[in-house]
Amino acid sequence: MLYAEPRVPNLNAKELAAYLADLCSWATVELREEFTAFWLGRLSEAEQDRAVARLAMAWAEARLGPAGRRETPPLPMEVRYEEKRLLDPTSSAMGLLYDGLAVMAALRELIAAGERTRQHLHLVLTNQLLATPDPGGRYHCRVALFGYPCLLSASGAVEGPAKPRAYYLAKQQARLSGIVAAELAAYGAVDAQAYLDYGDARLTAVLKGYAAQAVAYHLTGEPFCADRGCRLFNAHWQEEMLFAQLTSPYEFCPTHQEFFCRGSLS
Ligand SMILES: [Zn+2]
Repeated sequence: MLYAEPRVPNLNAKELAAYLADLCSWATVELREEFTAFWLGRLSEAEQDRAVARLAMAWAEARLGPAGRRETPPLPMEVRYEEKRLLDPTSSAMGLLYDGLAVMAALRELIAAGERTRQHLHLVLTNQLLATPDPGGRYHCRVALFGYPCLLSASGAVEGPAKPRAYYLAKQQARLSGIVAAELAAYGAVDAQAYLDYGDARLTAVLKGYAAQAVAYHLTGEPFCADRGCRLFNAHWQEEMLFAQLTSPYEFCPTHQEFFCRGSLS
């Protein structure tokens, strides 16, 4: 089950679903509307109100502060903000950082029991920024969160993997000399092709590999591959991500090529 995210215009869920259907010919791929709208739509009106209230509270609680998880409960206006955002499929509100695992747990509650099985891979596309902590407790933005359901973040593909060092250097220099960061690429200071930006036409193609990682995770427990040219490579830099997903001469390493043919590891 792949859930669309209409809030990201440059993310083509249909193309992504067709890719998965082609890649996993042994599975049935179903493209659904946006995750929250889909599952709320299956509840009675009274149940819907309760589910929205619970979900808005969970998102507000998952909101991260500068030091990570916040000690204090969310303010009523923060909960209202989430409620409004959840119910508005055209809302482009974003920029806040959330605890991805807390969001995942809240979304899991929405999935009907009959579909909460090993047979069902739920792959949720979102425009929100999701983070998980490193062993030191510092939160980092992620492109993909593997669990139940699996989450793919469009903004995470922009903000997660680190940009080329030249970008940060140029940004710092621009701040000193007063040039707006967005103008940097135009100044030729940084190659805009070297990293993914908001509205980037390459987003759908990049997320195909992360969707493939979710499939591998769901079936084997291991989403990643050590081969830098394989779409299952765990990229920490934008350049690594773009190479594994777009410019590598092959899509998958031989092991994963075979994995997707058979639907299991040999
Ligand atoms: Zn591989």
